[in-house]
Amino acid sequence: MDKYTGKGVYGAIAIGKISVFKQQDAEVKRMHVDDTENEKRRFEEAKTASVKQLSEIYQKALKEVGEANAAIFEIHQMMLDDEDYNDSITNIIETQHINAEYAVAVTADNFAEMFRSMDDAYMKARAADIQDISNRIIGNLSGETSEENSSDEKVIICAYDLAPSETVALDKDKVLAFVTAHGSSNSHTAILARNMNIPAIIGAGDEFLKNIKDGDQAIVDGFTGEVFVSPDSETSEKMLKKQAQDEEKKRLLQELKGKENITIDGHKVNIYANIGSVGDIGKVLANDAGGIGLFRSEFLYLENSDFPTEEEQFAAYKKVLESMAGKKVIIRTLDIGADKQCDYFQLKKEENPALGYRAIRICLTRPDIFKTQLRALYRASVYGNLGIMFPMITSVLETEKVLDICNSVKAELDSEGMAYSENIELGIMIETPAAAVISDKLAPLVDFFSVGTNDLTQYTLACDRQNPDIEQFVDTHHEAVLRLIEMSATNAHKHGAWIGICGELGADTKLTEKFLRMGIDELSVSPSFVLKVRETVRNINLSQE
Ligand code: PEP
Ligand code: MG
Repeated sequence: MDKYTGKGVYGAIAIGKISVFKQQDAEVKRMHVDDTENEKRRFEEAKTASVKQLSEIYQKALKEVGEANAAIFEIHQMMLDDEDYNDSITNIIETQHINAEYAVAVTADNFAEMFRSMDDAYMKARAADIQDISNRIIGNLSGETSEENSSDEKVIICAYDLAPSETVALDKDKVLAFVTAHGSSNSHTAILARNMNIPAIIGAGDEFLKNIKDGDQAIVDGFTGEVFVSPDSETSEKMLKKQAQDEEKKRLLQELKGKENITIDGHKVNIYANIGSVGDIGKVLANDAGGIGLFRSEFLYLENSDFPTEEEQFAAYKKVLESMAGKKVIIRTLDIGADKQCDYFQLKKEENPALGYRAIRICLTRPDIFKTQLRALYRASVYGNLGIMFPMITSVLETEKVLDICNSVKAELDSEGMAYSENIELGIMIETPAAAVISDKLAPLVDFFSVGTNDLTQYTLACDRQNPDIEQFVDTHHEAVLRLIEMSATNAHKHGAWIGICGELGADTKLTEKFLRMGIDELSVSPSFVLKVRETVRNINLSQE
């Protein structure tokens, strides 16, 4: 048995087989080949396998996300038949006597560059598709495509690290746990793991990844951050017991369903859930959340290979609002950038992406993208109780600009005779120290604040949330962060706005009492934490010091 230790980001136990995640951008080696005919045959076989996989994915997507979203996989199948693309690959194999993998990779780079240089936004976005289909062929050539997809067995996904876009693309029904060699606990991948209720460990180290292989039996303890590879019988027995106890605890929490979020002395608080996609609603309902406090809408963009259209977004927002049957649903507008990169946005590489062109900064400079999303949101608002919130706000001017754009979208819809609700609440995220410090000026402009503690902590403590090497310096209970939250709560209430917390700290039950004493009105947490926070609230007595 080998034991590796990282940091647990979702507490639960998983027992099963390892599947080593193949990073899409793995370097392709250039190799000389004598038999070019054989190499071309290998390419044809890999292409046939790719077409088959894409047609299976298309059928699955058709069922799960509808025709509009599935269409891309049909387009990918057609791209595989493109004459120029195929000629380029076979020519390179023949003339340079090199392996098919390398010929595909070179062709992909050339074609992607060609698409990128085009003026038309649609054609530009095809660059990502070319890379995507080429990666699939390369995967099939090297026998490294996710064979796990063909089996129904759930596996423990082990990776160097996982980008948010890679995490959303995984088949959630087949993932038992995540273990990454690198990564940090506030990264979006860790947040996604929490949202998915699956045990997850980050920072298990390079040795771990070096020593494991597909099919190895392992146990993941998301509580302690330990991974046991080829566990001995004593460890297996101990872990099985721990797993049963954990499941029993979670079962007991289920008894709190239908109960109020009320302290012993009668103070009530809203406990809502955070989601990243329409598919998370089941967990929100199963955990009896009072609403959705944060729908990270950017995942709609990350899941797509091109800008989601107004109709596609409208369908997703409508579905969430209808499913929540009149309960509050707060949808955050696009927060792309920093660690959430989307190829078709064509964002430049930045020295400090977390301090760069992201979130509202993209929306305010690309009103076409922003307005499409706002139109979809306003149109969907008639199907439920919608709140819209804006990320990464730092100033009054930005907030005013955002509100002006909302008004212009409403005027546009009016002129087209399109209906929208008059009762949409508009709020901003407090996730920069600037917003917290001027919260007295921001509060009169909005209906609510929602504190994004993940970014607020990163910017206040000057600690990159993506950097695992500085986690020891991240004091999540730092007085500076808590003071900024309290200041925002006081200012919100002074001006008739309400305030919630939607960052990960909202689920930290060591702080629940403190938050209630500050006057926080809502805590929005991963669905699986809703009942735990409810239990904590019900044991608090604010009348006692
Ligand atoms: C936050 O910053 O706390 C937040 C909720 O937003 P995200 O984690 O998506 O940046
Ligand atoms: Mg944030």
